[in-house]
Amino acid sequence: MLERWREVPPTAGLPVKLRDFVGGSSFEDGLADFLDVSRVQIECSGTAALIVALTALKNESRRRRVIVPAYTCPLVVAAILHCGLTPLLCDVRSGHFDFSMAALESIIDSDTLAVIPTHLGGRLADVDSTIDLAHRHGAIVIEDAAQSLGATLRGRMAGTIADIGIYSFAAGKGLTLFEGGALVARDAAMQRLLRAESAPSRPLWELRRVLELAAYAIVYRPSGLRAVYGIPLRRALKKGRLAEAVGDITPRRLPFHRVSALRKKTGSNALLRLPTFLDALNHQAAPRKAKLMDLRDVVVLDDAAGASGTWPLFMVLMLTQRARDAIMTRSWTVGFGVSRIFVHAIPDYPGLGISDAEIPNARDFAALMFTISNSLFLTDPEFQQICSVIEAISA
Ligand SMILES: *Cc1c(COP(=O)(O)O)cnc(C)c1O
Repeated sequence: MLERWREVPPTAGLPVKLRDFVGGSSFEDGLADFLDVSRVQIECSGTAALIVALTALKNESRRRRVIVPAYTCPLVVAAILHCGLTPLLCDVRSGHFDFSMAALESIIDSDTLAVIPTHLGGRLADVDSTIDLAHRHGAIVIEDAAQSLGATLRGRMAGTIADIGIYSFAAGKGLTLFEGGALVARDAAMQRLLRAESAPSRPLWELRRVLELAAYAIVYRPSGLRAVYGIPLRRALKKGRLAEAVGDITPRRLPFHRVSALRKKTGSNALLRLPTFLDALNHQAAPRKAKLMDLRDVVVLDDAAGASGTWPLFMVLMLTQRARDAIMTRSWTVGFGVSRIFVHAIPDYPGLGISDAEIPNARDFAALMFTISNSLFLTDPEFQQICSVIEAISA
């Protein structure tokens, strides 16, 4: 059993330090360097970044449909609806979160404004195939790299490959401003369109976020996380509220305001630690991934050829939902950092009001997958205990 005072976060986020509030330089310039792009635009969340991108595209086109994978972050769909556009769900390929190219080909048409290939948990989508197909149909490609800052695909940074890319700096993502996001675009004309849609200043929202970020810096340790993450998690699970447990609930209103210079400076300070942090995650992940892959009846999502992902967590698929659920029953509430990313395929979130899609692979993926944190707080013996639970259930 885990020591009672410890709580491992479900995903390895770069810890924020209170000293990040002192000094600092241009976050935009630092990120542009890191990503090897000419310009970065900061917004108050990944969702806000998407709203900026979709609004800019909508103004320039009569097309009204936006295609997303049927297994993705519900906030992406909320952003599309917020912009008055129509989300169209594309089934994923079997055992994965990325588009089935056959399914994408069958639904893309001359009303498709944009297609959103999505990298999840540091694992990369096949953006190049999506770009080929989308461009043949005159659609723009927005790469969702919210969970994959720092991952590379054939030497290019995830998020910088398609026409537009978005990142998230929400709590628990690779680098955090408590809430924040970024946008990049390939060409200068597109960059100007995006800049024109940037969010206005709302000082009260921003003040709230500064305080939340400072509080986050203080509690982001195993003892602090127990109170702010572990206890609410167990309360939600006890009531059977799975979506609430993993934070899948979409707020009724999506905040849209400018990020202050102060918070951006904390980001620039944290960014200096990011390369070393990502290396440390890689280093910890390699032997643990090998151990997981040796377990019976378990599939671990790995990098495709040419991809070099980041390792905030492991995505693990069991052969049956029964086995997956049995693992969750034994592990979810004990502070191991065993969790799930999105608990449902998109049509199964009642709040979004999207139904009757033929998306069997996405539903299977939601039913079979769980995640194991690769937080540096998770010790080898603790990781070994998780493996023992999986082994016992497969046996
Ligand atoms: C978190 C997330 C978003 C939204 O980002 P926020 O900063 O939380 O608004 C979008 N897409 C994916 C895949 C995400 O994980």
